[in-house]
Amino acid sequence: MKKVIIRFYAELNDFLPVAKKPRDIEYCFNGMINSRETIESLGVPHSAVDLILINGQFNPFTRCLVCNGKLGDAQEHDVKNLIKPELLNLHKAFFSCRDCGRVYWEGSHYNGMLGKINKLSGNS
Ligand SMILES: [Zn+2]
Repeated sequence: MKKVIIRFYAELNDFLPVAKKPRDIEYCFNGMINSRETIESLGVPHSAVDLILINGQFNPFTRCLVCNGKLGDAQEHDVKNLIKPELLNLHKAFFSCRDCGRVYWEGSHYNGMLGKINKLSGNS
């Protein structure tokens, strides 16, 4: 049996039963787990979660800040009509939301995620 410690922040605690808010929740499992199913099994809608930290780290290019859809790699020719032309000169790596189509690049998304982390940790 493996276990992970899960902690929800801010208004996500409103979804939890009284006994589980706001504290570390020990979640035991066998084999592999899926973050979406694990979060929802605790009563928190996956769509309400903006950011998942794993061992204190986050991967900024996995979820859309607007709709929480999955992000995927996008090529310059896919995004050139959707962003300002000068961004094509400044950035080489782009990501787009598979659900709403929003385009991200390291400056925009990375800074947005860092802002959320700082707000949650009281550093803003
Ligand atoms: Zn989206």
